[in-house]
Amino acid sequence: MSKSASVVKTLRKLNSSVEYVPYQMMLNPSNALHLIQQYDLIADCSDNVPTRYLINDACVAAGKPLVSASALRWEGQLTVYNHNGGPCFRCLFPVPPPAETVTNCADGGVLGIVPGIMGCIQALEVLKLASGMESSFSGIMFMFDALDGRFRNIKIRRKKSDCAVCSSNPEIQILGDYEAFCGSSASDKCRTLNLLSNEERLSVQVYKQILDDKVPHLLIDVRPQPEVDICRLKHSIHIPLSQLEDKNFNFNFLTERLSEISKNADELDNKVIVICKLGNDSQKAVKILQEFSNRGIYKFIAKDIKGGLMAWSEKIDPTFPQY
Ligand SMILES: [Zn+2]
Repeated sequence: MSKSASVVKTLRKLNSSVEYVPYQMMLNPSNALHLIQQYDLIADCSDNVPTRYLINDACVAAGKPLVSASALRWEGQLTVYNHNGGPCFRCLFPVPPPAETVTNCADGGVLGIVPGIMGCIQALEVLKLASGMESSFSGIMFMFDALDGRFRNIKIRRKKSDCAVCSSNPEIQILGDYEAFCGSSASDKCRTLNLLSNEERLSVQVYKQILDDKVPHLLIDVRPQPEVDICRLKHSIHIPLSQLEDKNFNFNFLTERLSEISKNADELDNKVIVICKLGNDSQKAVKILQEFSNRGIYKFIAKDIKGGLMAWSEKIDPTFPQY
């Protein structure tokens, strides 16, 4: 079920006298302004950076206040943009963060209670503004740290006189390509990297065959420890990607393990196989291992498993946990 249909279903049970209008579509630069113009107040509950810029710019263009809340891991933030001469999102964040530094809830994790708390405060602020009361968070960032159990209000910078959208002479007057601007897609879905060629990757079916044929190899699991604690393939050895990326990482034990198995192996193909959750980090790890191998210290061929352990669970072993 789409999120909008689900939320309407739930809200109707709570209050049947309110009119709910679900929109089952993605917000984009061609529909955002038309949609936002029809309402007095906008709440940003989105989950990705391009959409946050898009909603902000459309709210500025339409002259609507924006009650913005977000949550990740143990932290939540909330403020009201573009209200009573206060700043807009771009006044605070003129340039998007580098795409590789942005995590999503699937990868970064979020404790469900945190967005629950932030959503309640956001709803409270929406009701206050809608009924003509003063905003508590215009020009103020409300911050919640669930780990410390701390709420804080921080005064944020004023409206930027040269803001690209909300200044008197704005640089941006039409809604553009936000995915290009942010270098990331306008969704919370996990990104799919394509760092390796097809020849450098194994399907889970091919890997199953390698296991069935008892082909000697080393399987390296590069996920972080907490994920390995959830589930793992028993014969894998665990080297987190962060360790491989460390300049001081000592490859010696790897060469030792490889020389052990190579005594009986006829071919070098598929000797080092890397796996992670979805097949993104495993590609990064293969690149590092290839570089090490190319330096000529110990030659081997590294490949990764497409789709990672989640593909393994889906296509080979349904008893392997999905998380
Ligand atoms: Zn601005």
